Amino acid sequence: APFGTLPLSPAVLANLQRLGYERMTPIQAASLPLALAGRDLVAQAKTGSGKTAAFALPLLARLDARSFAVQALVLCPTRELAEQVTQEIRRLARAEDNIKVLTLCGGATMRPQVASLAHGAHVVVGTPGRIMDHLARESLSLAALNTLVLDEADRMLDMGFADDIGYVVNRCPSDRQTLLFSATYPPGVIGMAKRFMRNPAEVKL
Ligand code: AMP
Repeated sequence: APFGTLPLSPAVLANLQRLGYERMTPIQAASLPLALAGRDLVAQAKTGSGKTAAFALPLLARLDARSFAVQALVLCPTRELAEQVTQEIRRLARAEDNIKVLTLCGGATMRPQVASLAHGAHVVVGTPGRIMDHLARESLSLAALNTLVLDEADRMLDMGFADDIGYVVNRCPSDRQTLLFSATYPPGVIGMAKRFMRNPAEVKL
């Protein structure tokens, strides 16, 4: 289906056209109507399926660019994925002015990340351990968060991030939208969906 069937602004639709996105991928067609309506979502999707836009368009639709509080957080298993996700969110955000997207991963020095956070960011993309570190030292606040994304949830669990994810989710406002993407559904992922989400819609392809 074309993106024009979705409740997206003319500026966002024009930007999608500029990016060459003509039709929704299957995961986008199944996820976007529900996610844009505010539902929590558990979606089965792999890299290359267009899953990033499936969560990025809803989180961007809800952003208030005038507020410099972090309003969306995307947790990813690896730095490589976090960087890809950041690039894709930036491309999709071009329709709006001055949306700041920050990548926070382990392995990089803390100090520049703390300085960037002090300047304000609308969206943070990062790995669970480093996001936990920033919350613990209070360089990051999630008090204004409205969208939480758990990307490649199965891989995050494989990498031993279960406790870190729990720490982070406990510091998110309970009044939020949670979007979980995973290629597989081991018991740990189903457990996260039960603990962290409110009546999630399931998208399986
Ligand atoms: P992802 O699965 O999110 O990593 O996306 C894989 C690639 O497909 C990225 O390079 C996206 O920019 C691109 N892409 C995502 N959605 C669409 C679409 N509806 N039409 C064309 N390209 C897309």
